[in-house]
Amino acid sequence: MGSIPITLSSEKKKKPNQDQLEFGRTFTDHMFVMDYSNEKGWYNPRIMPYQSITLDPAAIVFHYGQTVFEGLKAYLTQDEKVHLFRPEKNMERLNRSNDRLCIPNIDEEFAIEAIKKLVHLEKDWIPSAPGTSLYIRPFVISTEAYIGVAPSKTYQFIVILSPVGAYYKEGINPVKIAVESKYVRAVPGGTGEAKTGGNYAASLKAQELVAGSGYAQVLWLDGVERKYVEEVGSMNVFFKINGEIVTPSLNGSILEGVTRNSVIKLLKHWGYTVNERKIAFEEIYNAHKDGQLEEAFGAGTAAVISPIGEFSWNEHKLVINNGETGEVSKKLYDTLTGIQYGTEQDPFDWIVEIND
Ligand SMILES: *Cc1c(COP(=O)(O)O)cnc(C)c1O
Repeated sequence: MGSIPITLSSEKKKKPNQDQLEFGRTFTDHMFVMDYSNEKGWYNPRIMPYQSITLDPAAIVFHYGQTVFEGLKAYLTQDEKVHLFRPEKNMERLNRSNDRLCIPNIDEEFAIEAIKKLVHLEKDWIPSAPGTSLYIRPFVISTEAYIGVAPSKTYQFIVILSPVGAYYKEGINPVKIAVESKYVRAVPGGTGEAKTGGNYAASLKAQELVAGSGYAQVLWLDGVERKYVEEVGSMNVFFKINGEIVTPSLNGSILEGVTRNSVIKLLKHWGYTVNERKIAFEEIYNAHKDGQLEEAFGAGTAAVISPIGEFSWNEHKLVINNGETGEVSKKLYDTLTGIQYGTEQDPFDWIVEIND
């Protein structure tokens, strides 16, 4: 695919104030774009000024949602180095999502090179205040003008960047979660394992309904029996029950998070028993009743670790650890963010540095 030409933007945007950064509303001066056609494969990689894209109204992406995305971050260390966290895992997953959506694979190493080059160009956009970062959003859209139901013959792979504020402004904070027993996010055989827009579209209704009653997110149950725990919002979920860590096993409808994978590796490294298995919510309820539910938390790139202080399940309320952040949740958060910002040892070589 060769080198990546850069067209610089003639005007630089004003950078937002670091303590007023909202998630996902501000974008940098440039973006990466690459095209695909059946004849040429992926071609014409380029970095260009951030701008609107023009598509035919019949483009497949608008009608049938043939699209995938990724989410990762670039972190600025105290000595001004730029870190990516396990970007190869995101690119592997991008191609697994591509496979599921009949989108042609992308060269993973080349995609990482493109991300590095774009982030390097936009280094001044990486905020430096504690907990802030530059969110990286790679995505693929199907661009063929055709409203028959079939995989597109043309695509674009685009990477945009957005400076994001600290997820926890007043320290890591437990949230209230409602167990969702009507709507489901995904089913085995469906697209739950793929990072694709449709899963998010399907999740909005349940989220909207519980937000009105003061819940941060829903806990998704399995789509067949509505019994087994799957994910929390758009994060993977973990429980500490009587000293052991449990998390739902990857069953075909759960999205495998890079954070989930990292949490499991760290916990095992520290000597914890981690069981990946089917977990009925009733089991969580019983563990809580017996005083054995010690912690619960979500894990994902945006929040890293999001402690759960309370579950509501039908008429029951389960308060966990007095609604306070648990020890393991805190240690995981501190260690993962420490590795990301370069203040902690990186025992698994997770960090990829972007060199000048
Ligand atoms: C992206 C995502 C996650 C978390 O994945 P990370 O790689 O850890 O950010 C979990 N669940 C869903 C549904 C997701 O889309």
